[in-house]
Amino acid sequence: MYSQITYNGHPCKEPVDNIKNIEYFLLDMDGTIYLGETLLDGTLDFLDTVKKQNKKVMYITNNSSKATRQYVEKLKRLGIESEEKDFFTSVNALEYNLRKTKPGARLFVLGTPAFEQYLENCGFELIKGYYPEPDKRPDFVILAYDTTLTYDKLVIACDYLTDGVEYWATHPDMVCPIREGRSVPDAGSFMECIYAATGRRPSFVAGKPNPCMVQLLIDKYGLSPERVAVVGDRLNTDIMAAVNAGVKSICVLTGEASAEDVDNTPESDRPTFVLDSIRDVWKILESR
Ligand SMILES: [Mg+2]
Repeated sequence: MYSQITYNGHPCKEPVDNIKNIEYFLLDMDGTIYLGETLLDGTLDFLDTVKKQNKKVMYITNNSSKATRQYVEKLKRLGIESEEKDFFTSVNALEYNLRKTKPGARLFVLGTPAFEQYLENCGFELIKGYYPEPDKRPDFVILAYDTTLTYDKLVIACDYLTDGVEYWATHPDMVCPIREGRSVPDAGSFMECIYAATGRRPSFVAGKPNPCMVQLLIDKYGLSPERVAVVGDRLNTDIMAAVNAGVKSICVLTGEASAEDVDNTPESDRPTFVLDSIRDVWKILESR
């Protein structure tokens, strides 16, 4: 069944004017407001209007290779002022769930030095190397977007997984876009490699499409779900996280998803709104 409402030829579940009722925009970054080191057209206008209309923006990302401080610096390079508290990543969601499940847990980590440092600062113990003795094993193998991955680290992770150690991951994205038409392997690709070698998949994946990032923000800031929208370029992560969390979603076609991908998605999993770019979100907020 196809939606009767369209905007610029794209199917929307509600009239786009309803976007004006959104108070909190949970913004994906890669493919939504920038591509690599290029800011996408309309982003600054959108952010200005959000501020002017007393709405709020939070940046949510599955990317677990960078610390939030690095995002603040990146946005600054692109001309956007932000603070660390404006960001919420799959790392924050993973850490929250780890802390709830086993505070101070021992972890073997496939992640960047920034990721390892963050977990150590949160009170977790990082295990380096392989120890066959059961009492020396980690409680969890944690897989993140490890841009410093080595074959040695993969072998150790696979050894622990074969020993039956619990396995969690930050996010399922297969690739990370770096510039137009180019992507590099992300955590999901590493997951497939580990699955081929051990037959194991993570029992918990914190990032989108898991709604836990969106739900944690709703709880933390006391947001009403009908006033919240996730804005993103990926149907299987950004939009599904919004669907799973029961908030609205805006799919922009500047990154991964194409209009055809949206058409091929079952009605229940489609975004609330489909727009060509962040510039269109701005146009709608500014329209009378
Ligand atoms: Mg994206």
